[in-house]
Amino acid sequence: RKPRSTSAGPAKTDAIRIRGARVHNLRSIDVDLPHHAITVITGVSGSGKSSLAFDTLFAEGQRQYIDSLSAYSRQFLDQIPRPDLDSIDGLAPTLSIDQKAGTTGSRSTVATITEIYDYLRLLFARIGVAHCVQCGSAVSQLSPDAILKRLADRPDGTRMMLLSPMVRGRKGAHRDVFEAIQKAGLVRARVDGEVHAIDEVPSLSVRKDHTIEAVVDRLVIREGIESRLHDSVELSLRLGNGSLVALTENESKSWDEELFNTSMSCAECGTSFAEVEPRTFSFNSPYGACPTCDGLGEIVVREGKRSGATRITAICPECDGARIGPVGRGVKIADVNIAELTAMPLDQSLEWFGRLHERLAGHGDETLEQKIAHPIVDEVQRRIGFLRNVGVDYLTLDRRGDTLSGGELQRVRLATSIGSGLVGVCYVLDEPSIGLHPADHGRLIDAIIQLRDQGNTIVIVEHDEATIRGADHLIDIGPGAGTAGGELIASGTPDAVSRDPKSLTGAYLRGDSRIPIPTTRRDCGQAKQLVLHKAATHNLKDVTVSIPLGCLVGISGVSGSGKSSLINDTLYPAVAQSLGLVTDPPGPYQRLEGADAIDKLIAIDQAPIGRSPRSCPATYSGVMDELRKVFATTRQAKSLGFAANRFSFNSSAGRCDLCGGLGMEKIEMNFLSDLYVTCSRCAGKRFNRQTLQVRFKGHNIADVLDLTIDQAAELFENIPKPYRQLCSLQDVGLGYLHLGQSSTTLSGGEAQRIKLGTELSRPATGQTLYVMDEPTTGLHFDDVARLVGVMQRLVDAGNTVLVIEHQFDLLAACDHIIDLGPSGGLGGGNIVATGTPENIAENTNTPSGAAMAHALE
Ligand code: ADP
Ligand code: ADP
Ligand code: ZN
Repeated sequence: RKPRSTSAGPAKTDAIRIRGARVHNLRSIDVDLPHHAITVITGVSGSGKSSLAFDTLFAEGQRQYIDSLSAYSRQFLDQIPRPDLDSIDGLAPTLSIDQKAGTTGSRSTVATITEIYDYLRLLFARIGVAHCVQCGSAVSQLSPDAILKRLADRPDGTRMMLLSPMVRGRKGAHRDVFEAIQKAGLVRARVDGEVHAIDEVPSLSVRKDHTIEAVVDRLVIREGIESRLHDSVELSLRLGNGSLVALTENESKSWDEELFNTSMSCAECGTSFAEVEPRTFSFNSPYGACPTCDGLGEIVVREGKRSGATRITAICPECDGARIGPVGRGVKIADVNIAELTAMPLDQSLEWFGRLHERLAGHGDETLEQKIAHPIVDEVQRRIGFLRNVGVDYLTLDRRGDTLSGGELQRVRLATSIGSGLVGVCYVLDEPSIGLHPADHGRLIDAIIQLRDQGNTIVIVEHDEATIRGADHLIDIGPGAGTAGGELIASGTPDAVSRDPKSLTGAYLRGDSRIPIPTTRRDCGQAKQLVLHKAATHNLKDVTVSIPLGCLVGISGVSGSGKSSLINDTLYPAVAQSLGLVTDPPGPYQRLEGADAIDKLIAIDQAPIGRSPRSCPATYSGVMDELRKVFATTRQAKSLGFAANRFSFNSSAGRCDLCGGLGMEKIEMNFLSDLYVTCSRCAGKRFNRQTLQVRFKGHNIADVLDLTIDQAAELFENIPKPYRQLCSLQDVGLGYLHLGQSSTTLSGGEAQRIKLGTELSRPATGQTLYVMDEPTTGLHFDDVARLVGVMQRLVDAGNTVLVIEHQFDLLAACDHIIDLGPSGGLGGGNIVATGTPENIAENTNTPSGAAMAHALE
């Protein structure tokens, strides 16, 4: 192996040059990624795009970054696997903007992820007006000089008494207090509103609340009184712990009473408040968090004891979801507190900041506070603007990070990166268009261009046509998936690639290949209907939706219009409940009709098919069970007395007993996540030697697990059941996957297609409702064409397929479309159109109408 380059730091060349990349299926390819440009990597699913972008470029970028850190960090370097490649030059510091929710949780919000919350905390600490939560009145704080000035400003001849508050509404005889007053050299006290000479104070009832003030001075305002007043104010504040009460005779000869404080306190009830600082607004610090819910905004009402049992939460009764404590909640700018501000939809909060900006600018004699506030407001406006540009303006700043979809989270992170203003960075993005309606792609691409123009290099794995066409440079990997892929097929400008006869992506860009549009559609008017009445989850406005059964039904609409709220959060759990399945409770709706025509409900989503490294395509699809039976029927197995069970790596008889059938041994690391190394006894074969003696057509069970699905289909061609299962997995485009590949290494799209393929191989009930959420994620045009075929087969068998999508080539293949809108967030939540794709395409004034017309062209 040639020595590898380790030059970190800013690039000196015009491109990142990768030589001899061999990670996973990559065939020792050489790739150049131009600096300060947008490079899109294309290719069918499984061709090796992520292996290049993430497992080679990003992985090496990270390693070189760690290499450039302290000796302490470098000691872990050897434990981070080196990507298999010859060299990489011109690498810039590399950051990935991905869709994984791993780093967000119930304590993160859109405001914290984007760092906008840091600016808001600073702003509220600087120019917010504190209010007492009980009285609603302003809380204020004055310097001793300011108090002195206020008192001295009264007209000459005004009579005044200065008092020090010592006890405020507390039970007891308070003898010690009177002693303290005497010790200070004072001779009078006001007890429960009446002034007494200190040695004539009546004895106090221990069981009653009393208020005691020391009388510090009685004086008349006139020339030359300042120094006496100064000393008295000082003494009053010292005795009164920062507070003093002034009684002033007014024109009608009665006394006005005022409370002055040098610490933050309520002018009404005198309750003192902690100093307002940025931490006051942090729900992730003990200073700011609401003590009842610990900053979560909700409390657990019931916690199931069993794992997987439902956990029921309610909005925190103390802070009403604001997450922060009473002091923070009481601080307002223009009558709005920080929680109310972050609960506004982004366009509304931008308007609010616009007004604040004007107000600050309108002041000729800017105070110091306003001078400080100005740039903070600018920065917040700038960052909210980036969020709008990436198409998530329907979100609120207080939206929890763990309720965002993968695409939304990625776009929020993209906006954060643009806002950070970093220069000279290589950003690696994974399908940023996921979950985004074609109508919003233009804005997203503009945002990515902005990131590039700030002086950064962008590398994107993407299938979306608009993004591909908007790239500066394309890298097409292929031709097929897995071992049939991993080669550099074409590279250059989108134009150049679209002219390249070798490139499958090029063929779609030219329009030579296209996703077929069915010539006839199923008649949905005749179909039985599943009707959900008056759904009101999130932004849904009492939506009543009819799903024609036995049809392929597409749900469209711009991001945030309410597609997931309607299908995933309401319809799906409502049908599940009617079938007696356990799910999260559905969002609010009135009633469900026609569910009796459904006997099975299956969600085919991108959730991993198993978190255990033991699970693999063979186990999930059930083909492993069949293959074990095949092995048990061999003459060899019979003579050894091995039943089917023997060939399972989950049963103790047949598996390697050192690794327990995992094929790997786990090494626990102190700082990094657990490391797995190949098992030293079975060398990764998972089974013990006796089991491996048994062979089918020359292959033992470990050899079979090492085959791709394509190879296995050939080997088991004559055995109907496993053959059918393997063919179903081929049909969804997974022929390249190895039967034993650990589920933890599969992409979301691959997991989704394994579920789909597994369903396809089951005997059809004809009454199953399949619900799919963006199944085109991770799919090339060519993969989408195949997926459509599979979905049509499920419907041909009598089942219903309900699919949320933004890919209009797939939507154009549906029998019936339900379009939500008209916009996202509060402006959405209605059904704006239903009918065949042709019907939808008639109204080109709507985003979906325009996109559908384009797809049907
Ligand atoms: P794409 O991003 O183009 O969909 P990938 O780079 O994810 O493709 O995958 C390329 C090939 O490498 C596939 O055959 C895939 O199954 C395989 N692969 C991906 N990740 C791993 C891994 N961690 N271990 C082994 N094989 C992997
Ligand atoms: P779509 O699936 O069409 O992109 P969603 O159903 O996800 O739209 O969102 C519709 C509206 O409901 C948006 O305003 C979104 O911010 C809001 N919303 C969605 N999920 C949640 C949630 N878990 N908590 C609060 N608001 C939500
Ligand atoms: Zn082993």
